Amino acid sequence: MKKIQMVDLQGQYAKIKDTVNDSIAQVLNTSAYINGPLVHEFQADLEKYLAVKHVIPCANGTDALQIAMMGLGLEQGDEVITVDFTFAATVEVIALLKLTPVLVDVDPKTFNIDLNALKKAITPKTKAIVPVHLFGQVANMEAIMEIAKVHDLYVIEDNAQAIGANYTFKDGRKQKAGTIGHVGTTSFFPSKNLGCYGDGGAIFTNDDTLANTLRGIVNHGMYTRYYHDVVGVNSRLDSIQAGVLKAKLPKLDAYCDSRRDAARFYNKAFENNPKIVTPTTQSNNTSNCEQLCDSCDCHVFHQYTLQIKTGKRDALHNHLLENGIPNAIYYPVPLHAQKAYKDSRYKEDDFKITNQLIEEVISLPMHTELDTEQLEFITKTILEFVG
Ligand SMILES: *Cc1c(COP(=O)(O)O)cnc(C)c1O
Repeated sequence: MKKIQMVDLQGQYAKIKDTVNDSIAQVLNTSAYINGPLVHEFQADLEKYLAVKHVIPCANGTDALQIAMMGLGLEQGDEVITVDFTFAATVEVIALLKLTPVLVDVDPKTFNIDLNALKKAITPKTKAIVPVHLFGQVANMEAIMEIAKVHDLYVIEDNAQAIGANYTFKDGRKQKAGTIGHVGTTSFFPSKNLGCYGDGGAIFTNDDTLANTLRGIVNHGMYTRYYHDVVGVNSRLDSIQAGVLKAKLPKLDAYCDSRRDAARFYNKAFENNPKIVTPTTQSNNTSNCEQLCDSCDCHVFHQYTLQIKTGKRDALHNHLLENGIPNAIYYPVPLHAQKAYKDSRYKEDDFKITNQLIEEVISLPMHTELDTEQLEFITKTILEFVG
């Protein structure tokens, strides 16, 4: 059996080596390292793939969030609601911009923002909501957009984990994750579903005015060369990374399918074990496709995350490591309990689900190169241990 990896970037590269190498060579041969043609070509390809008017490439997914918030003109003291159960980047940029983060609990099934907690958290100071499409599943965007409309709030989708996922509206219409809110952001960190070979990120919007503002902010606040109209940053996707991404984008749908195939294998193996809860796939609040049907496209499985109901999650984590099966706890500490983001306003009672999830979740190897032999070994080892 091939050595099992959490993410197999080597195996994936081996299959696309020629295309990627050609792309990189094109940059090296022209020395157009910054803002070269490949950056613009990738931008146009991604706009087409996402069916969004504007993609603004930038240096990483954290910058993308920060620039989106700057572009919306959020100011010191404005409250921004996001989830307690996510990677810290989301809350980090809110704090960095001196906005006020308001953390809310998540839904126990989808791990995405809890709509009741969201509604409860809205105050006259609230200016924006940042739903995070956690582990690759789109949050309930239709409901979120309705809430935002009623309260006149911006929606910034943190789509670092769900690029390629589709959201299905109640009327059957589909839209790509990250293109539904006023602005969406993503990360091309190597292990993300569309990863480059370094750092990269992008911002998406259908709003022409906002897109123009964002293009200036990423480039030192310049709209005309050496005229700085607003305070900006320097955040660029370099041409080599754009070349890698241009070569990989045509594979994204196939990559999402491979991840879903692995997820189906896992789901099937664990379906009759009451101590193991498999991920719920919910395309929106009206249609639950909990069984991850063949046409399911609302989840792209950036992570495949189980909940272990025996109280022995940590023991399982160690047992798997001892058996050569990498696995991870995303996330071990909720944001409200992190030293940097502690706040006397937070009450433990408001984070019941997150507090429970951090004790129960475990993410299994998930990537595009998993084979049946590996999946059988992983599931067998888990079932034998859990009993
Ligand atoms: C990875 C990630 C980010 C940050 O992306 P970087 O490119 O690493 O800066 C932000 N939000 C979420 C949810 C992520 O998973």
